[in-house]
Amino acid sequence: MAWGGGWGGGGGGGGFGGGGTAAGLPFGGIPSELMAEASKLMATEPAHRPSELTFHQRPDDHERQALTLPRMLREFPLYVILGSLLVIGVSLVLQVGPLLTEYAINNGMAVGHRSLRIIVLCAIAYLLLGLVGVYLQRLQTTVTGTLASRVMQNLRIRVFTHLQRLSLDFFTDEKTGVLMSRMTSDIENLQQLIQDGISSFAVQGLTMIVISVVLFTTNVTLALWTIAVIVPILVAFSLWFHHASERGYLLVRDRIANVLADLSESLYGIRVVTSNNRQKRNIRNHRHVVGAYRDANMYTGRINAVYGPATIMVGILGQGLLLGIGGQMVIRHQLSIGALVAFFLYLNRFFGPIQLLVQQYNALQQGRSSVIRLRELLETPPSVDEIPNATTLPEISGRLRFENVGFAYLAGQTVLQGVNLEIAPGESVAFVGPTGAGKSTLAKLANRFYDPTEGRVLVDGVDIRTVTLHSLRSQLGVVPQEPFLFAGSMRSNLRFGRPSASDEEIEEAIDVVGLRDLVDRLPDGLDTVVHERGQTLSAGERQLLALARAFLARPRVLILDEATSSLDLRSETIIERALDRILEGRSAILIAHRLTTAQRADRIVVVDHGGIVEMGTPAELLALGGAYATMYEAWLASGGRDGTRADT
Ligand code: ADP
Repeated sequence: MAWGGGWGGGGGGGGFGGGGTAAGLPFGGIPSELMAEASKLMATEPAHRPSELTFHQRPDDHERQALTLPRMLREFPLYVILGSLLVIGVSLVLQVGPLLTEYAINNGMAVGHRSLRIIVLCAIAYLLLGLVGVYLQRLQTTVTGTLASRVMQNLRIRVFTHLQRLSLDFFTDEKTGVLMSRMTSDIENLQQLIQDGISSFAVQGLTMIVISVVLFTTNVTLALWTIAVIVPILVAFSLWFHHASERGYLLVRDRIANVLADLSESLYGIRVVTSNNRQKRNIRNHRHVVGAYRDANMYTGRINAVYGPATIMVGILGQGLLLGIGGQMVIRHQLSIGALVAFFLYLNRFFGPIQLLVQQYNALQQGRSSVIRLRELLETPPSVDEIPNATTLPEISGRLRFENVGFAYLAGQTVLQGVNLEIAPGESVAFVGPTGAGKSTLAKLANRFYDPTEGRVLVDGVDIRTVTLHSLRSQLGVVPQEPFLFAGSMRSNLRFGRPSASDEEIEEAIDVVGLRDLVDRLPDGLDTVVHERGQTLSAGERQLLALARAFLARPRVLILDEATSSLDLRSETIIERALDRILEGRSAILIAHRLTTAQRADRIVVVDHGGIVEMGTPAELLALGGAYATMYEAWLASGGRDGTRADT
């Protein structure tokens, strides 16, 4: 409506007036007067191919190959061949100029050979070849640009896919900022390299070869002086530069990654930073990493500062040499003036590429270190992986068994030891115990966030290491303590675990977890957009959403890391009720921070010092008078429901 009125009004600049485009207005359809134009656009719009994406935890043979530049390029043979032909064309065509000059001087200007016709013909040929060369260069840039974009697209997807395969420990150890820098600056370096670097390197290299051949055919003595004296000095300089700059660029890459890591951590934790008055310390820390990055850049800067002028000096040396030796040869009639001039022109063109090669060398170095970094990332194996012939776990009844399980996050630092536990189908078991006892760790072993270092975990009698991760995790739902919401509508967030869930099922889930009030309050109901990480919702609401998400996914086993700090009494009551519904007919592990939840479970397992110290129904444990009974008494003494946590 707003569109129709606004555009249709047609008169002057008032089209957008009246706040007609304010956010939140429904799309009123394509106005009739624009329909014809829109249909025309739609007709030329390319049809989107349906997505043919498949994801397997185990990479295929192709993905297993080490990342190298040639392999990346090989995927687009046509572009590589075309690009190479154009590079050869450009290198040849642009080097004909001095030969024409030599011809014009010797056959059009020299005493006894004056010919305006030859001079004009040479000039026209010079111009035409120049134009052809420029055109070829344009084509070549387009081809290599397209090649670079395609190679980079493949690489980005490959790295991203690999990140999806990696295990939890990788993301705990590796800073997000470092990973971001792999995906941004490292990949951009490579793009730059493929787009300009390699082709320019090839053009310059080929140019040098072409010129060397021409120099030798023009005059062997002068060519020998050039190649045997001047080039070795340059090569020696270049070798030194090669080593020094490689070291420098690796340093630069590492340090920019640190800068990005520090930046992303500060941005992510800005609330904590501000509330703890850590700004000053944060700045000091950032100054430190930025300083280290500056030092690395200054190091490479210093190396470049030595190398650039050094090559210029060698160039001047060469020209002086040629002027002396070549001039003498002209006097002795061993060389024509035209050939000497051509030599000078070529010599300049000879050094030009060397200078350019130096510049491109930086790009090449940066690209190379990026390839190394990305290859390392791609070669990091997931610590939790599928075995080669992993089977699909059939629909399970939900029997979960920990068999003599031991675990350590870091070698030698045992977190769990000798854990034996069986959870029957449909049974809910609460893990209670002090913080750091190993409750969450035990839960993480059940859906293979980690693999036990000793013993095994069985689901319906099957060792979970022998089944595909997909078939296992699709039947085990996890509600983490700090639920994560993605930017998008509430609806899409709820559907996360089961995209095929119908609207009715979503409504049911909303009612079951008691989110109805919230949904009714939101401006667009379920279509309200929650911002990244759910920052616009309260922690309790996020928790409820995560519960609804798990309910919708209908897992056979539910693992629930209960968050208590985020819940008020009312939400707690709602969650208690919701849990009864959600756990119906499902096996469940409840990491219970509140004894109310523990009391409702079929069985309680008290975890302490990495092992199970007590196990039984709530009544049995109370009768036993052990650790749980003590906890329970303390809880009762403090008034029962008023927030005494089971793990304190
Ligand atoms: P709980 O859930 O009982 O509070 P956890 O299972 O989370 O305890 O932790 C058990 C122990 O393992 C703790 O000492 C904790 O510090 C350690 N831990 C937890 N996660 C990691 C990790 N990613 N790397 C190293 N140690 C860890």
